[in-house]
Amino acid sequence: MKVINKKTVSGYANTLKVSSFIAEPENTNELINIIEIAKDKNLNICCSGSGLSYADLITNQNNIILKTYKLNKIINYDNLNGYITVQCGVTFNSIYQMTLIDNWYLSSCPGGGDVSIGGALSNNVHGKDSFRNGNFGENIEFFKILQSNGKIVQINKSDEAFKYIVSGIGLFGIITEITLKLKKITSNYVEHKSVVHKNIDEIIEYHELNNPNYDFAVSWVDCFSNKIDIGRGLTKQATWCENERKTNIKILNKTLQKSKKIFNILPSYPTWEIISPFVNRKSFKIINKIYYNYNKFFGVKHENIQLFSKYNFMHNKIPNIKNIFNPKGFIEIQPVLPKKNIINNLKDILKLSQKFNSESLLAGLKLHKKDDYALSFSDDGYSIGIDLNLNNRNMKDIEIFADELFSLVCEQNGKVYLAKDQLLKPKHFKKMYKNYFKFIEFKDKFDPDKLFQSDLYRRLFIE
Ligand SMILES: Cc1cc2nc3c(=O)[nH]c(=O)nc-3n(C[C@H](O)[C@H](O)[C@H](O)COP(=O)(O)OP(=O)(O)OC[C@H]3O[C@@H](n4cnc5c(N)ncnc54)[C@H](O)[C@@H]3O)c2cc1C
Repeated sequence: MKVINKKTVSGYANTLKVSSFIAEPENTNELINIIEIAKDKNLNICCSGSGLSYADLITNQNNIILKTYKLNKIINYDNLNGYITVQCGVTFNSIYQMTLIDNWYLSSCPGGGDVSIGGALSNNVHGKDSFRNGNFGENIEFFKILQSNGKIVQINKSDEAFKYIVSGIGLFGIITEITLKLKKITSNYVEHKSVVHKNIDEIIEYHELNNPNYDFAVSWVDCFSNKIDIGRGLTKQATWCENERKTNIKILNKTLQKSKKIFNILPSYPTWEIISPFVNRKSFKIINKIYYNYNKFFGVKHENIQLFSKYNFMHNKIPNIKNIFNPKGFIEIQPVLPKKNIINNLKDILKLSQKFNSESLLAGLKLHKKDDYALSFSDDGYSIGIDLNLNNRNMKDIEIFADELFSLVCEQNGKVYLAKDQLLKPKHFKKMYKNYFKFIEFKDKFDPDKLFQSDLYRRLFIE
């Protein structure tokens, strides 16, 4: 192991930059060694998988960031019964490379296949299929975690710890191994279709009526449209193909890899850097309008068959897209709201963002499914992601907007996703996450040395 260098780091959104000691262990002995060093030097530890959480959930100022990407072995794959045991740094992509060809699928995959399984467990991530399959925790049979006392314990579904550590944002120990149950699929192809909607009322009505017949669904929402058009957009739904259609492993693996060029044509550098100065409200209002009208009049292909990996990983075609937000980065606030009064509540959120000139440049809307994990970003309801470019924006204005938005989300009994948050304050956090006190109690019991922390932990839990 390269022991511990000090470096400047940030989350995926490239906003908060802090200096931390970086450890990159390769095996369990090295993990135990890092725990000893941390205790000896009075430092605490924040694990990081692929570093795709947006902000201070994966930063740890003047303390240790333990990167798990070298712990990337697939330990066992039972292709007869669909079980797989992996080290924490293994990604969805590596699992799919092995299992999709056998028609075994790991559900609740976010839009990028680079997410590590340790990171997926800790944020209890969701995918375009989570309204059907639930969040990532539903895949887990059991896992192993290394605690601050240097001991590894196995946590089973029936253990109290299971519901705290799954969704526990890395605050209990180092997850070392995870055993997952895969789902049998009929084919590794999906059949998808897109439908245009003239406002948010139509989008929600469409999801409610049609989602029971689909395996995946996501909508794009034009956050600049207003009055009777408010929240107009497009829904993309997909189902696994019924008849067995097989691909070969070479093609499959190619679709799981990030393209080096944007849509295989333009180099990502310097394309995003050239576009970056034009990324603002005015230009994106026009882009949203063109995209909507294009799809309304010409664009929508009604039926289409595609490899799942091609359908799900849009980001593979647009490598390094976050660079359009350089140099200051971006903020995403993603609330999930229960279904009760959902249309009006979403309209209120859209109107509030318009009032503050803080419309999301591009917004995705998804249906979710409620679960019982302690800090889970889940509900029987809908989420919408609001992305704000920080360039040419006054941070104070964004904070005022965020504070109003958080109050509104609390009134609507919703919560925002911690994996993407950087602005929430304890007063709103406690209202949104009702298990707040139980979570602290369990953390004190499971990690009495408070060895596992992050900057987000100190922002939201230590007042
Ligand atoms: C373009 C993009 C699209 C996204 N879309 C979605 C989406 O659709 N749905 C969704 O749910 N999320 C989405 N996300 C967020 C992302 O999926 C989550 O933040 C995910 O948890 C990141 O995984 P990671 O491996 O990068 O983990 P990190 O971000 O590095 O870590 C996440 C958390 O896991 C903890 N952790 C990681 N490994 C371990 C370990 N071994 N032991 C203990 N704790 C550990 C960390 O401490 C941290 O709290 C998206 C992110 C990006 C960049």
